[in-house]
Amino acid sequence: MEQLLEQINSYKNEIEAFDSTDPKSVEEFRIKWLGTKGLVKTIMGEMKNVPNEQKKEAGQILNEFKVFVETKFESLKSSTSNLEHQSSNLDLSLPGDEQPLGARHPITLMKNRIISIFQRLGFAVAEGPEIEDDFHNFTALNLPEHHPARDMQDTFYIQQNPDWLLRTHTSNTQIREMEKGKLPIRVICPGRVYRNETVSARSHCFFHQLEGLYIDENVSFADLKQTLYFFVKEMYGKDVKVRFRPSYFPFTEPSAEMDISCTLCNGEGCSVCKKTGWLEILGCGMIHPNVLSNCGIDPNKYTGYAWGMGIERPALLKYGINDIRLFSENDVRFLKQFTSAV
Ligand SMILES: [Zn+2]
Repeated sequence: MEQLLEQINSYKNEIEAFDSTDPKSVEEFRIKWLGTKGLVKTIMGEMKNVPNEQKKEAGQILNEFKVFVETKFESLKSSTSNLEHQSSNLDLSLPGDEQPLGARHPITLMKNRIISIFQRLGFAVAEGPEIEDDFHNFTALNLPEHHPARDMQDTFYIQQNPDWLLRTHTSNTQIREMEKGKLPIRVICPGRVYRNETVSARSHCFFHQLEGLYIDENVSFADLKQTLYFFVKEMYGKDVKVRFRPSYFPFTEPSAEMDISCTLCNGEGCSVCKKTGWLEILGCGMIHPNVLSNCGIDPNKYTGYAWGMGIERPALLKYGINDIRLFSENDVRFLKQFTSAV
């Protein structure tokens, strides 16, 4: 019995002296003392050697010892888990910082939609400068010197250099693509353009265009029509009617304007289509041979077509917006309405 008490006291001293925050050492502690072959179990086995009259007292001492070891183990365990918590400093249960969702601008939504349709036909996207020289904006495009578009009243010129101006159309990008001399060319050119116009609900001094250009051998007006038919079907649905009206542009010959049946009244006539049942969508034509020559492309070998459309107009129609000025006023109440728009 005395031997047993001595043994327990020596164990107690050893256990009291033990301290660790390393989970591995704590586990070793558990195995050594509380494991199935641990010292607590072994010393409990000594009960059978204790004389009967001392068994009660010995049982009490042994039970106290067992509780002592278990308490020590629990305290070691909790200090290691606390430390783990602190050292990782990562609380996955914390709610994250709120990230408010913005909305794409309706012009961007419409532009992306148009681009995706033409990309499926193999058109690449090309971009050009918004500050342009006279040659790329006018001369190369067969715009004669007396053309009214060159007038100071219609175009913003840059004061430092009378040869520089804010581009009046994205056609400058087409010229720059042709100048590269890599044929065939199949590109679309989206971008912002500027004209000196009075700002109103229907027109603005800057707006967006998307032009297309295809140049190769044996390109015909039939190819142009087929491309635009595909666009209209994808954009406005298969039941929309298309018509071409002869027109004039200096840079195309022959030239046409394309209308679609009004998507609001289905051709019946309403205020948007001015009771005509038709909506003007774009201008197009076969590239004028002079334009090809100006860019170093042989017009006897190559032909091509081009078209140009505004982006504001289809966006106004699609989203039911009645004032073009809303697009550039940065009014959050307006822009927020497009959070889930496509
Ligand atoms: Zn209509």
